[in-house]
Amino acid sequence: MPRYSYSAINTYLNCPRQFLLAYVDRREQPRTEAAAVGTEVHECVAEYVRHLVRAGLQTDLDYIASLGVSSDARGVLETFAGTHLFEPGDYLVEHRHQVRLAEDVDYSGVIDLLRDRGEELDITDYKSFWRALSQSEVESSLQLRGYALLAFDLFPDARRVNCRMDFVRLGVVREMTLEREDADAVRQELLRHVSAIEKAKEAGDFPARPGGHCDWCGGKGDCPALASGLEAITCAADAAALADEYIVLEARRREIQGLLKPYVTREGALARNGLVVGYHTSDGVSYDLPALVSVLERAGYGILDYVRPDATAIKKAAKADSALAEALTAIARDASKSTFAVRREAA
Ligand code: SF4
Repeated sequence: MPRYSYSAINTYLNCPRQFLLAYVDRREQPRTEAAAVGTEVHECVAEYVRHLVRAGLQTDLDYIASLGVSSDARGVLETFAGTHLFEPGDYLVEHRHQVRLAEDVDYSGVIDLLRDRGEELDITDYKSFWRALSQSEVESSLQLRGYALLAFDLFPDARRVNCRMDFVRLGVVREMTLEREDADAVRQELLRHVSAIEKAKEAGDFPARPGGHCDWCGGKGDCPALASGLEAITCAADAAALADEYIVLEARRREIQGLLKPYVTREGALARNGLVVGYHTSDGVSYDLPALVSVLERAGYGILDYVRPDATAIKKAAKADSALAEALTAIARDASKSTFAVRREAA
Protein backbone atom coordinates (compact mmCIF):
# COMPACT_ATOMS: atom_id res chain seq x y z
CA MET A 1 0.00 0.00 0.00
CA PRO A 2 1.52 3.34 -0.94
CA ARG A 3 2.28 5.66 1.92
CA TYR A 4 2.78 9.34 1.24
CA SER A 5 4.18 12.20 3.23
CA TYR A 6 3.98 15.95 2.66
CA SER A 7 7.62 15.91 1.70
CA ALA A 8 7.03 13.33 -1.07
CA ILE A 9 4.01 15.16 -2.45
CA ASN A 10 5.78 18.50 -2.32
CA THR A 11 8.81 17.05 -4.08
CA TYR A 12 6.56 15.80 -6.88
CA LEU A 13 4.81 19.17 -7.15
CA ASN A 14 8.17 20.92 -7.38
CA CYS A 15 9.74 18.53 -9.86
CA PRO A 16 8.36 15.12 -10.91
CA ARG A 17 11.84 13.91 -11.93
CA GLN A 18 13.23 14.76 -8.51
CA PHE A 19 10.39 12.73 -6.97
CA LEU A 20 11.27 9.79 -9.26
CA LEU A 21 14.92 9.88 -8.21
CA ALA A 22 14.30 10.39 -4.50
CA TYR A 23 11.21 8.28 -3.83
CA VAL A 24 11.10 5.63 -6.57
CA ASP A 25 14.75 5.07 -7.54
CA ARG A 26 15.87 5.98 -3.99
CA ARG A 27 18.88 7.83 -5.33
CA GLU A 28 20.84 9.41 -2.50
CA GLN A 29 20.07 13.11 -2.11
CA PRO A 30 22.91 15.55 -1.40
CA ARG A 31 23.44 16.63 2.17
CA THR A 32 24.20 20.32 1.81
CA GLU A 33 25.66 22.41 4.60
CA ALA A 34 22.41 24.43 4.81
CA ALA A 35 20.40 21.21 5.17
CA ALA A 36 22.76 19.94 7.88
CA VAL A 37 22.41 23.21 9.82
CA GLY A 38 18.62 23.09 9.38
CA THR A 39 18.50 19.55 10.73
CA GLU A 40 20.68 20.44 13.70
CA VAL A 41 18.55 23.49 14.55
CA HIS A 42 15.39 21.38 14.27
CA GLU A 43 16.80 18.64 16.51
CA CYS A 44 18.02 21.17 19.10
CA VAL A 45 14.68 22.94 19.30
CA ALA A 46 12.92 19.57 19.67
CA GLU A 47 15.37 18.50 22.38
CA TYR A 48 14.92 21.78 24.25
CA VAL A 49 11.10 21.57 24.00
CA ARG A 50 11.19 17.94 25.19
CA HIS A 51 13.26 19.01 28.17
CA LEU A 52 10.81 21.82 29.07
CA VAL A 53 7.82 19.49 28.77
CA ARG A 54 9.52 16.76 30.87
CA ALA A 55 10.65 19.19 33.55
CA GLY A 56 7.46 21.30 33.48
CA LEU A 57 9.51 24.46 32.89
CA GLN A 58 8.60 27.56 30.93
CA THR A 59 12.15 28.30 29.86
CA ASP A 60 15.65 27.10 30.79
CA LEU A 61 18.64 29.08 29.57
CA ASP A 62 21.03 26.93 31.67
CA TYR A 63 19.95 23.86 29.73
CA ILE A 64 20.76 25.62 26.44
CA ALA A 65 24.19 26.57 27.79
CA SER A 66 24.81 22.91 28.68
CA LEU A 67 24.09 21.61 25.16
CA GLY A 68 27.07 20.78 22.96
CA VAL A 69 25.79 22.39 19.76
CA SER A 70 27.15 24.63 17.03
CA SER A 71 27.15 28.38 17.64
CA ASP A 72 24.50 28.78 14.94
CA ALA A 73 22.14 26.35 16.69
CA ARG A 74 22.89 27.94 20.06
CA GLY A 75 21.99 31.39 18.66
CA VAL A 76 18.69 30.06 17.35
CA LEU A 77 17.94 28.35 20.67
CA GLU A 78 18.64 31.55 22.56
CA THR A 79 16.28 33.51 20.27
CA PHE A 80 13.75 30.71 20.77
CA ALA A 81 14.08 30.75 24.57
CA GLY A 82 13.83 34.55 24.61
CA THR A 83 10.60 34.58 22.62
CA HIS A 84 8.81 31.46 23.92
CA LEU A 85 7.48 30.68 27.37
CA PHE A 86 6.02 27.20 27.64
CA GLU A 87 2.71 26.93 29.42
CA PRO A 88 2.24 23.70 31.37
CA GLY A 89 -0.01 21.24 29.53
CA ASP A 90 -0.29 17.96 27.66
CA TYR A 91 2.19 17.91 24.80
CA LEU A 92 3.42 15.49 22.18
CA VAL A 93 6.86 16.30 20.76
CA GLU A 94 7.99 15.09 17.31
CA HIS A 95 5.07 12.73 17.13
CA ARG A 96 4.76 10.45 14.09
CA HIS A 97 1.30 9.45 12.99
CA GLN A 98 -0.38 8.13 9.88
CA VAL A 99 -3.92 8.19 8.60
CA ARG A 100 -5.72 6.19 5.96
CA LEU A 101 -6.55 8.55 3.10
CA ALA A 102 -8.34 5.89 1.09
CA GLU A 103 -8.61 2.10 1.13
CA ASP A 104 -5.14 1.72 -0.28
CA VAL A 105 -3.33 4.99 0.57
CA ASP A 106 -1.80 6.15 3.85
CA TYR A 107 -0.51 9.60 4.72
CA SER A 108 2.09 10.04 7.42
CA GLY A 109 3.89 12.89 9.09
CA VAL A 110 5.82 13.98 12.15
CA ILE A 111 4.21 16.81 14.11
CA ASP A 112 6.89 18.90 15.82
CA LEU A 113 4.71 19.92 18.76
CA LEU A 114 1.10 19.16 19.60
CA ARG A 115 -0.73 20.49 22.62
CA ASP A 116 -3.95 18.78 23.63
CA ARG A 117 -6.45 21.28 25.02
CA GLY A 118 -9.55 19.06 24.82
CA GLU A 119 -11.78 20.35 22.03
CA GLU A 120 -8.91 22.42 20.65
CA LEU A 121 -5.45 21.29 19.63
CA ASP A 122 -2.44 23.51 19.00
CA ILE A 123 0.15 22.20 16.59
CA THR A 124 3.44 23.89 15.83
CA ASP A 125 5.77 23.32 12.94
CA TYR A 126 9.25 24.72 13.55
CA LYS A 127 10.98 26.27 10.56
CA SER A 128 14.68 26.99 10.69
CA PHE A 129 15.01 28.88 7.43
CA TRP A 130 15.64 32.59 7.17
CA ARG A 131 12.42 33.79 5.62
CA ALA A 132 9.10 34.05 7.38
CA LEU A 133 6.35 32.90 5.03
CA SER A 134 3.55 35.42 4.54
CA GLN A 135 0.22 34.94 6.28
CA SER A 136 -1.43 33.90 3.01
CA GLU A 137 1.32 31.34 2.33
CA VAL A 138 0.78 29.90 5.80
CA GLU A 139 -3.00 29.80 5.32
CA SER A 140 -2.63 27.87 2.08
CA SER A 141 0.07 25.55 3.42
CA LEU A 142 -0.67 21.95 2.47
CA GLN A 143 1.88 20.86 5.06
CA LEU A 144 -0.01 22.49 7.96
CA ARG A 145 -3.35 21.24 6.71
CA GLY A 146 -1.87 17.73 6.47
CA TYR A 147 -0.69 17.98 10.08
CA ALA A 148 -4.16 19.11 11.13
CA LEU A 149 -5.61 16.01 9.43
CA LEU A 150 -3.22 13.81 11.43
CA ALA A 151 -4.11 15.66 14.64
CA PHE A 152 -7.87 15.25 14.08
CA ASP A 153 -7.28 11.53 13.59
CA LEU A 154 -5.18 11.30 16.77
CA PHE A 155 -7.76 13.16 18.87
CA PRO A 156 -11.24 12.21 17.69
CA ASP A 157 -12.93 14.61 20.14
CA ALA A 158 -11.06 17.68 18.94
CA ARG A 159 -13.19 20.14 16.99
CA ARG A 160 -10.52 22.63 15.99
CA VAL A 161 -6.78 22.66 15.30
CA ASN A 162 -4.78 25.85 15.63
CA CYS A 163 -1.79 25.44 13.34
CA ARG A 164 1.35 27.50 13.79
CA MET A 165 4.47 27.93 11.76
CA ASP A 166 7.19 29.08 14.07
CA PHE A 167 10.15 30.67 12.30
CA VAL A 168 12.59 30.05 15.11
CA ARG A 169 15.52 32.08 13.75
CA LEU A 170 13.36 35.15 13.33
CA GLY A 171 11.09 34.91 16.39
CA VAL A 172 8.07 35.12 14.04
CA VAL A 173 4.97 32.93 14.44
CA ARG A 174 2.12 32.75 11.94
CA GLU A 175 -1.12 30.91 12.57
CA MET A 176 -4.18 29.50 10.87
CA THR A 177 -7.08 27.43 12.18
CA LEU A 178 -8.82 24.38 10.78
CA GLU A 179 -12.23 23.10 11.91
CA ARG A 180 -13.04 19.40 11.89
CA GLU A 181 -15.50 20.06 9.03
CA ASP A 182 -12.47 21.13 6.91
CA ALA A 183 -10.68 17.79 7.36
CA ASP A 184 -12.43 16.04 4.49
CA ALA A 185 -11.41 18.77 2.03
CA VAL A 186 -7.78 18.27 3.10
CA ARG A 187 -8.10 14.51 2.64
CA GLN A 188 -9.52 15.03 -0.86
CA GLU A 189 -6.77 17.48 -1.77
CA LEU A 190 -4.07 15.05 -0.66
CA LEU A 191 -5.77 12.25 -2.56
CA ARG A 192 -5.84 14.35 -5.73
CA HIS A 193 -2.07 14.79 -5.51
CA VAL A 194 -1.52 11.10 -4.72
CA SER A 195 -3.68 10.10 -7.67
CA ALA A 196 -1.62 12.36 -10.00
CA ILE A 197 1.59 10.75 -8.73
CA GLU A 198 0.24 7.23 -9.12
CA LYS A 199 -0.80 8.08 -12.70
CA ALA A 200 2.69 9.44 -13.39
CA LYS A 201 4.14 6.17 -12.09
CA GLU A 202 1.94 4.14 -14.41
CA ALA A 203 2.85 6.29 -17.39
CA GLY A 204 6.51 6.63 -16.39
CA ASP A 205 6.03 10.36 -16.93
CA PHE A 206 8.36 12.34 -14.68
CA PRO A 207 9.42 15.53 -16.46
CA ALA A 208 12.20 17.64 -14.97
CA ARG A 209 10.88 20.95 -13.69
CA PRO A 210 13.80 23.13 -12.65
CA GLY A 211 13.61 25.68 -9.88
CA GLY A 212 15.22 26.66 -6.60
CA HIS A 213 14.63 23.10 -5.36
CA CYS A 214 17.38 21.90 -7.75
CA ASP A 215 19.82 22.81 -4.97
CA TRP A 216 18.58 19.86 -2.92
CA CYS A 217 18.42 17.39 -5.78
CA GLY A 218 20.62 14.33 -6.20
CA GLY A 219 19.90 14.31 -9.94
CA LYS A 220 21.57 17.58 -10.90
CA GLY A 221 24.57 15.88 -12.48
CA ASP A 222 22.57 14.17 -15.22
CA CYS A 223 19.49 16.34 -15.35
CA PRO A 224 18.41 17.09 -18.91
CA ALA A 225 16.92 20.41 -17.82
CA LEU A 226 20.15 21.86 -16.46
CA ALA A 227 23.51 23.04 -17.60
CA SER A 228 22.82 23.34 -21.30
CA GLY A 229 26.15 25.09 -21.90
CA LEU A 230 24.51 26.71 -24.92
CA GLU A 231 25.89 29.94 -26.35
CA ALA A 232 23.37 30.24 -29.17
CA ILE A 233 19.91 28.97 -30.02
CA THR A 234 19.89 26.80 -33.11
CA CYS A 235 16.62 24.92 -32.62
CA ALA A 236 13.53 24.76 -30.39
CA ALA A 237 15.23 22.23 -28.10
CA ASP A 238 18.07 24.71 -27.44
CA ALA A 239 15.53 27.41 -26.59
CA ALA A 240 13.70 25.04 -24.24
CA ALA A 241 16.98 24.11 -22.51
CA LEU A 242 17.90 27.77 -22.03
CA ALA A 243 14.40 28.59 -20.77
CA ASP A 244 14.79 25.83 -18.16
CA GLU A 245 18.14 27.26 -17.12
CA TYR A 246 16.67 30.76 -16.93
CA ILE A 247 13.85 29.52 -14.67
CA VAL A 248 16.40 27.95 -12.32
CA LEU A 249 18.44 31.15 -12.16
CA GLU A 250 15.36 33.28 -11.51
CA ALA A 251 14.20 30.97 -8.71
CA ARG A 252 17.67 30.81 -7.24
CA ARG A 253 18.00 34.61 -7.39
CA ARG A 254 14.80 34.98 -5.38
CA GLU A 255 15.95 32.37 -2.87
CA ILE A 256 19.33 34.01 -2.42
CA GLN A 257 17.62 37.35 -1.93
CA GLY A 258 15.37 35.76 0.69
CA LEU A 259 18.43 34.43 2.52
CA LEU A 260 20.45 37.61 2.28
CA LYS A 261 17.74 40.12 3.25
CA PRO A 262 17.47 39.11 6.93
CA TYR A 263 21.27 38.82 7.14
CA VAL A 264 22.03 42.28 5.78
CA THR A 265 19.16 43.73 7.81
CA ARG A 266 20.92 42.44 10.90
CA GLU A 267 24.59 42.72 9.94
CA GLY A 268 24.68 45.44 7.29
CA ALA A 269 25.49 45.38 3.55
CA LEU A 270 28.22 43.13 2.13
CA ALA A 271 31.01 44.62 0.01
CA ARG A 272 32.18 42.10 -2.59
CA ASN A 273 34.68 42.81 -5.32
CA GLY A 274 33.78 46.47 -5.64
CA LEU A 275 30.02 45.87 -5.45
CA VAL A 276 27.81 46.29 -2.41
CA VAL A 277 24.99 43.83 -1.76
CA GLY A 278 22.35 45.03 0.67
CA TYR A 279 19.83 47.75 1.25
CA HIS A 280 20.62 51.07 -0.42
CA THR A 281 18.69 54.06 0.80
CA SER A 282 18.10 56.79 -1.73
CA ASP A 283 16.99 60.34 -1.04
CA GLY A 284 13.40 61.07 -1.86
CA VAL A 285 10.65 63.52 -1.02
CA SER A 286 6.92 63.53 -1.47
CA TYR A 287 4.48 66.45 -1.62
CA ASP A 288 1.06 67.13 -0.31
CA LEU A 289 -0.88 67.38 -3.60
CA PRO A 290 -2.96 70.54 -2.93
CA ALA A 291 0.16 72.33 -1.63
CA LEU A 292 2.14 71.22 -4.68
CA VAL A 293 -0.59 72.41 -7.06
CA SER A 294 -0.71 75.74 -5.32
CA VAL A 295 3.09 76.21 -5.49
CA LEU A 296 3.19 75.23 -9.17
CA GLU A 297 0.34 77.57 -10.01
CA ARG A 298 1.90 80.48 -8.13
CA ALA A 299 5.19 79.88 -9.92
CA GLY A 300 3.46 79.83 -13.29
CA TYR A 301 3.99 76.10 -14.12
CA GLY A 302 1.31 73.98 -15.82
CA ILE A 303 0.05 71.42 -13.30
CA LEU A 304 -0.54 68.75 -15.93
CA ASP A 305 3.16 68.72 -16.83
CA TYR A 306 4.11 67.67 -13.31
CA VAL A 307 1.27 65.65 -11.83
CA ARG A 308 0.60 62.06 -12.98
CA PRO A 309 -2.71 60.24 -12.49
CA ASP A 310 -2.81 57.55 -9.79
CA ALA A 311 -3.99 54.64 -11.96
CA THR A 312 -4.53 52.33 -8.99
CA ALA A 313 -6.77 54.81 -7.15
CA ILE A 314 -8.69 55.55 -10.36
CA LYS A 315 -9.22 51.83 -11.00
CA LYS A 316 -10.51 51.40 -7.46
CA ALA A 317 -12.94 54.30 -7.80
CA ALA A 318 -14.19 52.99 -11.15
CA LYS A 319 -14.85 49.58 -9.63
CA ALA A 320 -17.28 51.14 -7.19
CA ASP A 321 -18.86 53.61 -9.65
CA SER A 322 -20.16 52.25 -12.95
CA ALA A 323 -20.90 55.73 -14.41
CA LEU A 324 -17.30 56.74 -13.72
CA ALA A 325 -16.07 53.45 -15.18
CA GLU A 326 -18.03 54.13 -18.38
CA ALA A 327 -16.73 57.68 -18.67
CA LEU A 328 -13.18 56.49 -18.09
CA THR A 329 -13.51 53.75 -20.74
CA ALA A 330 -14.43 56.45 -23.26
CA ILE A 331 -11.19 58.35 -22.67
CA ALA A 332 -8.83 55.44 -21.87
CA ARG A 333 -5.73 54.96 -24.05
CA ASP A 334 -4.21 51.52 -24.46
CA ALA A 335 -1.08 51.40 -22.31
CA SER A 336 -0.58 47.63 -22.31
CA LYS A 337 2.99 46.44 -22.69
CA SER A 338 4.87 43.18 -22.88
CA THR A 339 7.37 42.28 -20.20
CA PHE A 340 9.92 39.49 -20.42
CA ALA A 341 9.34 37.35 -17.31
CA VAL A 342 8.69 33.88 -15.94
CA ARG A 343 5.06 33.36 -14.98
CA ARG A 344 2.81 30.40 -14.20
CA GLU A 345 0.89 28.95 -17.15
CA ALA A 346 -2.77 30.03 -17.19
CA ALA A 347 -4.89 27.17 -15.79
S1 SF4 B 1 18.07 19.05 -11.03
FE1 SF4 B 1 16.22 20.26 -10.80
S2 SF4 B 1 15.05 19.93 -12.67
FE2 SF4 B 1 16.59 18.32 -12.54
S3 SF4 B 1 15.55 16.63 -11.55
FE3 SF4 B 1 16.59 17.79 -9.96
S4 SF4 B 1 15.06 19.22 -9.22
FE4 SF4 B 1 14.33 18.46 -11.16
